[in-house]
Amino acid sequence: MATAANASRPPTTPPDLADVRGQSSARNALVTAAAGGHALLLLGPPGCGKTMLAERLHGLLPPMAEAEALVVAIHQSLAGQAIDPLSYRVRPLRRPHHTSTMMALAGGGNPLRPGEISLAHCGVLLLDELPEFARPCLEALREPIESGEIHLARVHGSEVLPARFLLVATMNPCPCGRTLQSTPPCRCSTERIASYRGRLSQPLLDRIDLWVSMRAVDHAHLNAPPAEATATLAPRVWRARALQQARQGGLNAQLALPELLGVSAMSRSAAACWQALGKTHQMSARGMHRLLAVARTLADLEQASSVEDAQLFQAAQWRQVF
Ligand SMILES: [Zn+2]
Repeated sequence: MATAANASRPPTTPPDLADVRGQSSARNALVTAAAGGHALLLLGPPGCGKTMLAERLHGLLPPMAEAEALVVAIHQSLAGQAIDPLSYRVRPLRRPHHTSTMMALAGGGNPLRPGEISLAHCGVLLLDELPEFARPCLEALREPIESGEIHLARVHGSEVLPARFLLVATMNPCPCGRTLQSTPPCRCSTERIASYRGRLSQPLLDRIDLWVSMRAVDHAHLNAPPAEATATLAPRVWRARALQQARQGGLNAQLALPELLGVSAMSRSAAACWQALGKTHQMSARGMHRLLAVARTLADLEQASSVEDAQLFQAAQWRQVF
């Protein structure tokens, strides 16, 4: 666990994706999240590597622009933290514990202090064991995931703080954390599992673009050669982000649906595929919007000008855990 003092400063030798064996779908989702600014939820049994992967999202991101670094420095100053000139352009990585209070997470007080979500602005907010967070804290994530801001109630009116973070969260599949494949197997009742997963409201889940189900690592993968390293994958992420900035001045996760449709350039058959996937998986309008945003990012990672069926199918696979 990072302490409050060091939580905003990434380690000098960041953890590398080459350390994570197997889990190819989750690795691809991590790259996609970094490339398009998509919130990501990794669900899997203890020991499957979900926290290892979550810790490696930060290493895929490019340095901050000057204007971003300035806002981050202002937040750190408001929170009473020393500003380290050596990490001035390095994106923040915040990892609050699930026992964090609402004020610690969202901010507030007098004088006003930014919470963890504003301290994660332009960087990564890593929330381990997401369902263990208090319900009001979880619901407080909805507004900033959607708008990149948080409104804080004050004695006279409210104040707005920037909170455009990249969320990566982890959770177990059930309260005991085991799966049917493990020994001893999970004995959680259907009701207990439903109650545990139900701590994440549908409106919150709808705002998380990527839901990835991970299984225990196959032992065959432990002897496999190292997978692609962060240094190999990060340039792909940076290229895809630069492409989005040039095309629309922001990341795909931040686009409203009309703008997204405009830049997706779907053929008539791809648009029909998108509609059919929404119907098959009984997605809400918001779910379909998020599906298309992820598909656009997958196309950007391939430097493709239009969204095709393959990217839509992949994006739909990452929305089928719940
Ligand atoms: Zn269980």
